[in-house]
Amino acid sequence: MFTFGPVNSRRFGLSLGIDLSPKEKSCNFDCVYCELEAAKPVDIIKNPPSVKEVIKEVKEKLEKFPKVEVITITSNGEPTLYPYLDDLVDELNKIKQNKKLLILSNASTICDDKIKATLEKIDIVKLSLDCATPKCFKKIDRPLKGIDISHLIECMKNINPPTLVIEILLVKGINDKTEEIEKLNKILHDIKPDRIDLGTIDRPPAYKVQKVEEEKLVELSKLFTNLPITIIIKNPPKTKENFSQEEILNLLSHRPQSQFDIDTLFSNKSKNILSELLKRGEIFKSDVAGIKFYEINKSSHIS
Ligand code: SF4
Repeated sequence: MFTFGPVNSRRFGLSLGIDLSPKEKSCNFDCVYCELEAAKPVDIIKNPPSVKEVIKEVKEKLEKFPKVEVITITSNGEPTLYPYLDDLVDELNKIKQNKKLLILSNASTICDDKIKATLEKIDIVKLSLDCATPKCFKKIDRPLKGIDISHLIECMKNINPPTLVIEILLVKGINDKTEEIEKLNKILHDIKPDRIDLGTIDRPPAYKVQKVEEEKLVELSKLFTNLPITIIIKNPPKTKENFSQEEILNLLSHRPQSQFDIDTLFSNKSKNILSELLKRGEIFKSDVAGIKFYEINKSSHIS
């Protein structure tokens, strides 16, 4: 089987997965937090399935599960190592109907012009970026020799898929230091992704590493300034805050708030003010790859 699900992804909606390396892990990273077993990094997928086989199965699944919202290209490892990715993307685009095509990549191959061109044909490209500095990158992602994070960051600034999502996974004691996050914040302003997903370990990791506590994750998320950041945590804070109109506008001018932020933090009174601001067009709601954001309408706030 080359497909799995559909599964309900909190970040992307009802997702039908395609696994391009169903027999074994094939990844050019060996991340400490990987939910697959630890394995020596490789740069090929052995015995990859054919495009024809994959497409046949996807067609069957789409008929059986018509409510699927996204078709997710992934693998037991890194999907851009799949040798026929460009053909596969073309064929999936022909049969996807109203579904979005999504790829989950560790970003290691995006400096290759051919792969960049393939990725730009995919509706939503999610790239991982755990660290801004080489030392931190090597410690957390344990890449194949020769993969240089500074080079990948430059290529991230030049990739233009319809929607670009950057995922950052924080691991206690490795990439949760303020200086590292501040560097990431600066770089993300240059990459300009449509959405940033911040998370921590939530499944048993390949190595003995620990998650960042939820409270700390929330604190660290505040170091990302004026960026469309989302955090998904299992036990959201129970306190609801009463924000004034001015405080809401100030908050949104610093950082767009996701629907999750609103649901977990805003009191009913604050939500009513938010609805009024929406009605008056002072703020607006956007949908970025399945997650709703509230953003300030800059044209109505030029002083
Ligand atoms: S890039 Fe993904 S699959 Fe590869 S080691 Fe890291 S977490 Fe695992």
